[in-house]
Amino acid sequence: MLPLSTKAASVGQIQLAGIEYWSIDQLAARFGMKVISEKSERTLTLKSAWTTIDLEADSRECLYNGVRLFFGDAVRELKGSYYISRLDAEKRLTPLLLPGKGVSVVPQLRTIVVDAGHGGRDPGKENKRLKVNEKEMALDTARRLKRVLELQGYRVILTRDADQHLDKTKVGDLRRRAEIANEEKADLFISLHYNAVGARAQKVSGVEVYTLTPQSQFSTADPQQKDQKGAAVMLIGNANDHWNTVIGYQVQRRMIKAMGATDRGVKHARWAVLRFAECPAILIESGFLSNDSEARKIMQPGYRQKIAEAIGDAVQTYGNIVAGARKRHNQP
Ligand SMILES: [Zn+2]
Repeated sequence: MLPLSTKAASVGQIQLAGIEYWSIDQLAARFGMKVISEKSERTLTLKSAWTTIDLEADSRECLYNGVRLFFGDAVRELKGSYYISRLDAEKRLTPLLLPGKGVSVVPQLRTIVVDAGHGGRDPGKENKRLKVNEKEMALDTARRLKRVLELQGYRVILTRDADQHLDKTKVGDLRRRAEIANEEKADLFISLHYNAVGARAQKVSGVEVYTLTPQSQFSTADPQQKDQKGAAVMLIGNANDHWNTVIGYQVQRRMIKAMGATDRGVKHARWAVLRFAECPAILIESGFLSNDSEARKIMQPGYRQKIAEAIGDAVQTYGNIVAGARKRHNQP
């Protein structure tokens, strides 16, 4: 395994606008990757035998083996040299390149809590033209995912197996879902949702996966950086940043491949269900009900089965990665 020193002095560290950045040249050398740069385009590609990472100056997006991932901070170019923030290098690239590197305990994977978003008096997103709502589609997908994961040998618990709201308040309902995962000592929490946008954006479609925003970074949809308070506070779920990245990437990769859907990327937010879960946790938006053609697909049982199987495949890959890392850490 390649050594990755976290000692800043050895990685070409600079400060830009108060954020600690590392030289990409030196980082690539540590991962045994080649750097190919297109100065005219302000783009940069890191390459190894198995991995290609496409980066762009002043962008918070990258392509990791063709899958869209969002960073917390933009990549910067300074006098022809490129830099990535230390947090993005540690929490977004390292977990994918060297899973288990720099973490003291590797989780296991036995119990999985699957959460069907919304329910009861909260229908979630709706497409009234097609008479379809999120709570029903999410529950059906959750039941399918439960069967897929049980066939793989996992213990699976649903947060709800009926059309119900889990608390008197919205916040209580969301907190309850994470609490179920904590009470069941879940090793993984998967929250299932479908998306929608307003009438002016009916063309928007595709899949996105959310993981909890790391401490002292800003969420993907927060360019004005309003969540200053959330950024400063260490949340329970942040202990799992490393593994959140691994499962988030695997799910996004499998879903866009299996479904042929638009890749909206692995994003970061401080959703309540992600904040309160004590195990690695993701929230999946499997498509847009506001887009009639995507909604018609989602309404087909066969398409929802495809979604469940793609997530199941990703969980299996994640299980293999975790098992490999446990072996390297001498954990049984
Ligand atoms: Zn939802």
